[in-house]
Formats: sequence, C-alpha cells, structure tokens
Amino acid sequence: MQRLRIKNILSEGNTGQAVNICGWVRTRRESKGIGFIALSDGSTQETLQLVVPEASQAFQKLIHCNTGAAIKATGLLKESPAQGQRFEVEVSGIEIFGDADPVSYPLQKKGHTLEFLREIGHLRPRTNTFGAVFRVRNILAEAVHEFFQCRGFIWVHTPIITASDCEGAGDLFTVTSLDLQKPPKGDNGDIDFTQDFFGKHAYLTVSGQLEAEFLAMSLGDVYTFGPTFRAENSNTSRHLSEFWMIEPEMAFADLKDDMQLAEEFFRFLCRKILEKGESDIAFLEKFYKNTSIAELKTLAEKPFVHISYTEAIKELEKSKEKFEFPVKWGLDLQSEHERYLTDKVFKGPVIVTDYPKEIKAFYMRLNPDEKTVAAMDILVPKIGEIIGGSQREERLEVLTERMRHAEIPFENMEWYLDLRRYGSAPHAGFGLGFERLVQYITGMSNIRDVIPCPRAPQTIKF
Ligand code: ATP
Ligand code: MN
Repeated sequence: MQRLRIKNILSEGNTGQAVNICGWVRTRRESKGIGFIALSDGSTQETLQLVVPEASQAFQKLIHCNTGAAIKATGLLKESPAQGQRFEVEVSGIEIFGDADPVSYPLQKKGHTLEFLREIGHLRPRTNTFGAVFRVRNILAEAVHEFFQCRGFIWVHTPIITASDCEGAGDLFTVTSLDLQKPPKGDNGDIDFTQDFFGKHAYLTVSGQLEAEFLAMSLGDVYTFGPTFRAENSNTSRHLSEFWMIEPEMAFADLKDDMQLAEEFFRFLCRKILEKGESDIAFLEKFYKNTSIAELKTLAEKPFVHISYTEAIKELEKSKEKFEFPVKWGLDLQSEHERYLTDKVFKGPVIVTDYPKEIKAFYMRLNPDEKTVAAMDILVPKIGEIIGGSQREERLEVLTERMRHAEIPFENMEWYLDLRRYGSAPHAGFGLGFERLVQYITGMSNIRDVIPCPRAPQTIKF
C-alpha cells in the first residue's frame, strides 16, 4: 500500500479507508491506556492524529515515538470525535524509521525564536512556521510560471556566469579558477584575467536583464526566473547575497504596458495564494500578525497608487517626519522614504515613476524632459522596493551617449548596441525579487526566513 499524504487524506479521505502514512512525530501523549500521536508530513499545516489502543501491537512501539522521530503508521481512517479535525487514524501497526533523542532534539515543544531557528537551518523546516513559509514559496513559484505561460511569455534561461559588469547594481562576486595564492599579474601589477578560465574577468550575474533583452528582441515576450548574486555588504532584513529574481521583458511595449503587467502579476499572485495557501497564511496571520487574509484580498483587487518621483519628493518635503537621509530632487529614495510613502501616506503599494537619470541605470529610456528616465519602482508597505523596472533606451545615439556619460566600457557591450543597430524596437521589463515577494506575502520580517539557505555577509552555514 502506498503512503498517502496528510493533505490528501484531509481533503479526499473516506472513513473506513485503510491508510499508510509516513511522517515525523510532533507530540505524543497517553491517556487512559490509549496512545495519541500528532504526525506531520510537511504536505500541509495540519497534523494527523494517530490513535493507538493498548490492545494493538503498535502500542509497544510508542516508547520510540519521541518528538522528531520518523515513523510509518498503518491503520483505518475514522471520523474524529475531537474538535478541529475531520479524521484520525486508528493505528494497527507502527514502523520506526528513525527515533529522535528527546533530550538533545533541538526542536522542543516550546516556541523558539526565529534567530534560534536560523542556527538550526537544517531542522527549521519541520516547524509550523517554516513549513508554512516554504509551502507559500512553492505556490508563488508555480503561480509565477502560470501567469507568464498563460500570457504566452517564453521562459528563457539566462546565464549565471557572465562577463558583463556594467549593470551597476551593486558589487559582483568574481568567478575564477586562478590560483588565488599566486595569480598571474600584468605589467601594471593588476591580475591578468586573460589567463583565467574564460580569458576574461567573469562574475556571478546580478541580473538576467541584458540577455533577456536580446531574447525579447527575437522571441517577443520572455521572462527569466533564476538566481542572482550581489556582493554588497548590506546586513539588512531585505537583502540577501543570493536571491531569485523574476524578470519579464516585452518587445513592442512602453512603461505603461510594463506597469500594467506588474500590477496584474501582483494581483494574480495574491489570488493564487488565497486559493491554494489560505491555511498557511491563516497560521502566519495568527502567530505573527504581519500578514492577513483580509489584506491579501484587498491587494488582489485594488489598483496601485501611481506617482512620479517629483511628486514623491514633494510629498516627502511636506512631511514632518525626521528622516535620517536628506530629501532633495536628484537624490535617491532611501528605504525610510519609501516606507513613509507606503506605510504612512498611501497605506498600500505605490508605483513611483520617472526618476532622475543620474540615479538610474544607463539603459533606462530618456524622457522628453531629458532629466528623467522612464523608470518605475513598486514600493510596498514594510519592505519598500519590491520591483524595479523601466522602458529600455532603444535609440542608438541616446544609449551610447548615456554609456559614455556613465563611463560604461564599450568592449563587452557591442552586442547590446547591435540590438539598437538591427531591428531596434521599444521594449520594457522589470525585476521582481522573489524573496521580497515571499516576505511581503508571508509577513516574515527578515528575508533570511523565506529562503531555505540564506546567503548574507558572514552567513553560509547551511
Ligand atoms: P535595493 O535598492 O532595495 O537594494 P536595487 O534597486 O538594488 O534594490 P534592483 O537592481 O532594482 O534592486 O533589483 C530588482 C529587484 O530585486 C528589487 O526590486 C528587489 O526586489 C530585488 N533585490 C535587489 N537586491 C536584492 C537583495 N540584495 N536581496 C534580495 N532581493 C533583492
Ligand atoms: Mn531598483
């Protein structure tokens, strides 16, 4: 007999049905000669209650069913007399796969802090919290593909190792096979990367956008969904050194189309979570109070507020809030400014458009005012920026001028300019940090708690 998942038993089981279930013991207790085990198998937030009568042979095995033990139980599905659960299993047989020492097992019944759980990254997915977070993450990942696939976008796989270092999106990790003790040096004393594996200085990618652009300029609408890396030394609750990014890129599209896509995408993801992850969100809402089903329902419906960067600056200048960083037209918005706009002024997601060209990447399309670019950032409460996007500069002259101004070396970029030489067309796209999305939906306050193995400065234990 195959093992059944608890999730499936709860949704489609029948009383009297013989079942085999495998999982990890959450709790065990005995009362009036009957043993009770709450078993979890990771498929759902719910545990399944196993009832072991004294007369059953399985009763002898109970002593090995400590919290954390992996077991298989065989028995019959029964209507449960207890409140809050539909079924329980009357157990006739128990097989112990692996016991867990009750003294040393780190996950005791009492609640643990998220900081402590980060120290035991290999066991924390067994907790209710991390089970919920990783199931929500999975639902969102699937929904990302569903959204784009239904709209005819083609999933493209852009490289993880790249030679282009010009994105200007923070520091890069070098990829090398040179002997770090004795790297070859050129005449000027610098490391000679022509002798390195690729014959060039190579890096881990910070974004798949530039490659996604050439794919959009041939396939039409494309998207990437893959890992990206940033070596910035930012020890914050919203930065990781390795994170997953979703980057759609659309040919024959402008900034309006881009914003519309982003909003529809966001609302779609909220709807999918309500459809498939409601019990996990309900758990997180109850214990952490940073997410709520009601809030997600609103998000799934409501259009975002749109304001220009210039209007945002005016709004910030009006405020009586004491900001740490200065507010002035031409300076970038800091996280405190972003959160003031989302949390205090608009109380919801905000799209800020048309930033000064000096603070945005060279590839963003210059607006007719020649001071701002067709950029858009989507800011959400508690987190700040979750999406950064733009219409791309498709005019060769303007683009080369901006590259010169930003001192971008042309040597690795000729292919990028070719896209403007041969069949150039308006196009636009954005990048959504997947972990920031999961953070926003689950309400987890630290981004390190929404990815199984967080990478951050001085952090790579698991
Ligand atoms: P921030 O200003 O928040 O550091 P950014 O402007 O450098 O972000 P972009 O280069 O615009 O980020 O990247 C697109 C998206 O990727 C961001 O909107 C964000 O959701 C996500 N992102 C960027 N950096 C990180 C990071 N270090 N960890 C997790 N997600 C990130
Ligand atoms: Mn950005």
